[in-house]
Amino acid sequence: MNIREEKQKREQVILSPYAQLSAHSKGRERPEEECLIRTCYERDRDRILHSKSFRRLKHKTQVFIAPEGDHYRTRLTHTLEVAQIARTIATSLCLNESLTEAIALGHDLGHTPFGHTGEEVFNEICPFPFEHNLQSLRVVRELENGTGLNLTYEVQDGIVSHCSGYTPDTLEGYAVYVSDKIAYINHDIDDAVRGGVLRYEDLPQDCIDILGDTHSKRIHTMIVDIIENSYAKNGIFKSLAISEATQKLRRFLFDNVYVGSAAKAEETKAKDILRRLFEYFIQNKDKMPDEFIFRAEKDGLERSVCDYIAGMTDNFAVSLYKNLFIPKSWN
Ligand code: MG
Repeated sequence: MNIREEKQKREQVILSPYAQLSAHSKGRERPEEECLIRTCYERDRDRILHSKSFRRLKHKTQVFIAPEGDHYRTRLTHTLEVAQIARTIATSLCLNESLTEAIALGHDLGHTPFGHTGEEVFNEICPFPFEHNLQSLRVVRELENGTGLNLTYEVQDGIVSHCSGYTPDTLEGYAVYVSDKIAYINHDIDDAVRGGVLRYEDLPQDCIDILGDTHSKRIHTMIVDIIENSYAKNGIFKSLAISEATQKLRRFLFDNVYVGSAAKAEETKAKDILRRLFEYFIQNKDKMPDEFIFRAEKDGLERSVCDYIAGMTDNFAVSLYKNLFIPKSWN
């Protein structure tokens, strides 16, 4: 028996009857020889971690566009926080930790530059519906490496199902779904206070009474609530009180941070950058990297331009815009 087979056997002993066992994976679209050491989900996690799309998350907006302070979240640190919360939930519920981690690390790979602002522009300019979770799936299925990462069915399912309106097939997918919300609700408060957009005193007092008066207490309350209510059950559940307080806090963030606040002052400019880049590459497709010129033949020009721009970091989009549209000074 090799090490991977030993691990698969261990999963059968240790994991909950509701966990997804790696030995029961529906597998990959293009069949591959199994690794001697790693389970299929460990392998998927590693493929995502080593991908270029993953590294680009470090220069993609979470809430604040290209923040200069070192302590603001980026899409990369958000992803790592989601992975950590999801792993805590998964291991406490005896779910498959590697599957959970793989889904968490991959869930936001399709985020455009400038976060949800960018996503809105894509919805305007693309002749097809654009959602970052669908784009994450496209990254792992096709774009990364030129051929995609050939991930297992369960990791792909969890990645596409991390947004509302989708139902994950596995509890590991659900664990990431709830962890994403726990992560962003809490770190966006932290960043908004750091950025002077909110004061802690402004947070709704009834939510603080229930969830806790510090960042770490609130995360802890939400995680423990899920673990207590889901332990040994075939589902991920929350108590009504915590769930209502969390929802209220989330609405508060939408009203005070995500929409129309000082944090959003640069949004119009960010949107204009993406619109101009889109128009430019539609008219000058040969200026794209070869892989996207090739894809334009196969998938259509708009799809390919959209894939190219969606993959850019905030920094890359801004410097490309400068190079293309701002005259260089004479030196
Ligand atoms: Mg996310």
